[in-house]
Amino acid sequence: MIALPPLPPSQNGHVPAEDLTTGGDPLEYVSVSRLKAFLGCRLRFYFEKVMVVTRPESPNLHYGKAIHAGIQHYNKARWRGGDASETAVIAAYQKAFDNPEKGAKIAWESADEAAAQRAEGEPLLKAFLASQLLAPETKPAGVELKLRAELPSLALPLLGVIDLIKADYVPVDYKTIGKTPNLSLESWLHEIQLTAYTLLVEDATGEKSPANELVFLVKTKTPKVIPHRVPAPSQVQRDRFARLVETYANGVANEDYYPSPGMQCGWCDFRNECSKWKGGPS
Ligand code: SF4
Repeated sequence: MIALPPLPPSQNGHVPAEDLTTGGDPLEYVSVSRLKAFLGCRLRFYFEKVMVVTRPESPNLHYGKAIHAGIQHYNKARWRGGDASETAVIAAYQKAFDNPEKGAKIAWESADEAAAQRAEGEPLLKAFLASQLLAPETKPAGVELKLRAELPSLALPLLGVIDLIKADYVPVDYKTIGKTPNLSLESWLHEIQLTAYTLLVEDATGEKSPANELVFLVKTKTPKVIPHRVPAPSQVQRDRFARLVETYANGVANEDYYPSPGMQCGWCDFRNECSKWKGGPS
């Protein structure tokens, strides 16, 4: 097995310390988050990723991040050695839940809502750990790896943070959702992310990545964990991804930020700012 390269802090694939979600020069690199935001609505991308206009975080997003922290603790403990017990995983979740990232405000409607949401994490993580015990894996190749690739096919460097890379170089991403997923729809919805992760892993390892895996943690009354293996992206999907990155690079270079009214406006926090748009980026 070829190990993921040990990377010096300054270069060779590791993302700079900058958080991928907190702005910076949008032409310095493209990430899945930037690309999806841009393709969803360019004006919203401008407010969120360029101007970095902050808003209270949604309870669902905060909950998903805290669950992610519990899973991350578990995977890191398996990768580097550490306490992968149920107690430690749930403690990591609760710590993240009680301490929002960067002091972010969470848009709770009441303290009771926050307490009820917090309590839901424990059974979901227990279901996750039970699924791991049923199908134990070998040691991962990497956990929460921040990778950077400069590929001739892409107009900009590609950056990404991958939840888990299995020993056979399958990138894994965890999704916390409220109902049982339609798996073929989910594969379609996450094509950009899965293609980006494959490109990053293949660039870092020099090996072909055989597949991707989405793992859904479903917050139903009895929590469920549904792993879904997706074939490695085809050449057509890789070419589509490259064209989308090109569209992003050209659109950002031209400050081509305009509204895209549609269903996504229903959960957009920037309707007030958007309503003042009259033909320019600001
Ligand atoms: S309200 Fe709709 S069109 Fe306006 S920025 Fe938000 S998503 Fe885009």
